[in-house]
Amino acid sequence: MSHARRLALGTLVASIAGQLSLASAQAGDVTVLPGCGANPTGSFVPLSGAPRVGQTLVLGVDNPLGTQPPGALPMIGAALTTGPFFPCGVFVPGTGMAGGAAAGELMLGAPLPSVLIGAPWAGAGSPAPVSLPIPGNPALAGLTFYAQGALVEPGVGFRFARAASVTIGPPGPLPADIILEDGFVYTVDAAQPVVSAVAIRAGEIVYVGNDAGAAAYAGPLTQVIDLDGKMAMPGVHDSHVHILEGFHGAFTCQLPPGQSIPSYGAILQNCAPSAGTGWVIGYGHSIFDMHPFIEGGGSPVGVLDAAIPNHPTVIMEETSHSVWVNSLALQAVGFDAGSPDPPGGVILRDPGTGAPNGVLLDAAGEMVMDLALLPSPLLDQMNYDALLDGLAAANRNGITSLCDARVYWKRGYVEAWEQARDLGTLSVRAIGGLWAYPYELDDAQQIADLTALYSNDPSSLLRFSQVKLYADGEISHTTAALLLPYQLDPFFFSGTLAGPLGINVFDQARLTSYITQLQAVGFDMHVHTIGDRGVREALDAIEAADLASGGTVDARHRLTHVHLVHPADVPRFAALDVTADFQPFGGGLFSFFYGIYLPLAVLQQEAEQLRTLYDAGARVVLSSDFDVGSLSPFEGMENALAMGPESLPTRDAAIRAYTIEAAYLMRQEDKVGSLETGKRGDVIVLDRNITTIPVGQIGATKVLLTLLDGQEVWRDPSF
Ligand SMILES: [Zn+2]
Repeated sequence: MSHARRLALGTLVASIAGQLSLASAQAGDVTVLPGCGANPTGSFVPLSGAPRVGQTLVLGVDNPLGTQPPGALPMIGAALTTGPFFPCGVFVPGTGMAGGAAAGELMLGAPLPSVLIGAPWAGAGSPAPVSLPIPGNPALAGLTFYAQGALVEPGVGFRFARAASVTIGPPGPLPADIILEDGFVYTVDAAQPVVSAVAIRAGEIVYVGNDAGAAAYAGPLTQVIDLDGKMAMPGVHDSHVHILEGFHGAFTCQLPPGQSIPSYGAILQNCAPSAGTGWVIGYGHSIFDMHPFIEGGGSPVGVLDAAIPNHPTVIMEETSHSVWVNSLALQAVGFDAGSPDPPGGVILRDPGTGAPNGVLLDAAGEMVMDLALLPSPLLDQMNYDALLDGLAAANRNGITSLCDARVYWKRGYVEAWEQARDLGTLSVRAIGGLWAYPYELDDAQQIADLTALYSNDPSSLLRFSQVKLYADGEISHTTAALLLPYQLDPFFFSGTLAGPLGINVFDQARLTSYITQLQAVGFDMHVHTIGDRGVREALDAIEAADLASGGTVDARHRLTHVHLVHPADVPRFAALDVTADFQPFGGGLFSFFYGIYLPLAVLQQEAEQLRTLYDAGARVVLSSDFDVGSLSPFEGMENALAMGPESLPTRDAAIRAYTIEAAYLMRQEDKVGSLETGKRGDVIVLDRNITTIPVGQIGATKVLLTLLDGQEVWRDPSF
């Protein structure tokens, strides 16, 4: 304590002592106070836990005398002593046995070691807790300390009261901040796969093992959570998710899929421009309905113009691989009958006039979205708000690490992520996958721009260390790049929307150039590949980039989606150390189109080869692709275990695909992805044991608690 503080306290003591006729006491004097010990009251309250030498003990002692007698002066302090009674009657002026030491100071002077734990207290109520380190002196081990208070009562003297006692244990581990015990803790660590307890201190896992071992880490302030047998596991990694887009407030015009295109007119008429944009921006409808409407001679742009003639309008299709626009939007982006298709995109056209018909595939649609979502202060706020909503949803689903699968750095997304980091609202470990804009024609400029955004500080929750590249489009839009032509089932459609082999978004030469240059910066590639030709060309590009760099680059690239993989390319994932990133949607939207467009042999041999790739030694991760798929990783696990012969072999494989394997992909497997001493405290608690219940019940799993660095970022109200 400062000299001034000591003086002030000394003055206080002197003033109190004056009332007790002790004003003449000198430093070093030992004085017996009148009335001392006459009326010890109160009772000892054992403190929880057993602090150990070297730990910090925090005490808050309620007014130990309860209701004070009339005229009593305030409590002047409390001492932590080694005797069951305050060193009653012993007062050492100047040394502050009863008032001269500050909180946390240990006095080893005569007659007894004591720690004063409070500044002068008000008489009533509870003083603020004070903390004091228990000196790292093993000689103190085994001593029982008592916290006591003293009250000055005029005419009576000091009255002492006992409030708390604690026995200092032998030197031991520092106490944990949080202990999860009595659980089924699935560690994803082969050395001890299932334990019952985990202890976390300062965000780091300090113990993994049984309850008895964890008890050594319990201190008075440790939060001990009894899991009552519930399952805990490492925080989930979602390595492909659109967390900001999925909650973006600009997409206000919602078109539920499954309706005929003309019937949307009534909804569209009521859609107003999104705040701050001047554009009507929407989401919904399906290419499955749009495609036959076009083939039947319908005019998508005509339907939109009739409903919304006065505002540029863009409606994103449910897979995000096309947009539906009106004439004002086409004018804004500059597409007309004379416009060539932009790189990575297709302008669908009226077969008679060649004029755009109002549906733009893949990158052509993104060019319009760029205009609708031009950065502005209001849009920046919407980006940030969407991100916060997305982060909360991720935490509710047990997600503590994720890769943003497409960071639109020209729409202010980088700034939104950085704002969350800087304001302390970032509640996951995140890697932003910076989108390589396919229609940016100056490749050198784009690579320089991406390089300037690169960041990979392993101590930061936020890194921009991946680049999202698109090799191709998607099967429902016939933009996935295929080795064999799309097969048409005339029952559904009479033609494809794009070419017979789909499209390249980045062709192989451009992929190779980007990968070669960006991996040298340190970027890992996140390559969108759906068709078997897209997969092959991406693997070829990665192989070529590896050759170009002389094999010196330690890259962790992955292909995402990988819906169709030619058998000849299956072993290449392991050979090139390329991760296969699957979204097990459990059939539905995407596989529906397989039956329409794929030759039977391709469908049978190449589609959704999760197990085939796994057995071929490929590193497999699972992800949501939210908001295309559900954000729940447990639905993904269930689906990955219910794919018939292509199911993952074990639940452990499914859990690993959402934890340690994805942690490797994010270059943080040394830090998270399993529960091991020395790793960070990213832990989740589930409402059921997904290793024992029927597979069909895994998807309904609810997350009760999510810890990031040992801090609660989600707790279910029922837990
Ligand atoms: Zn995606």
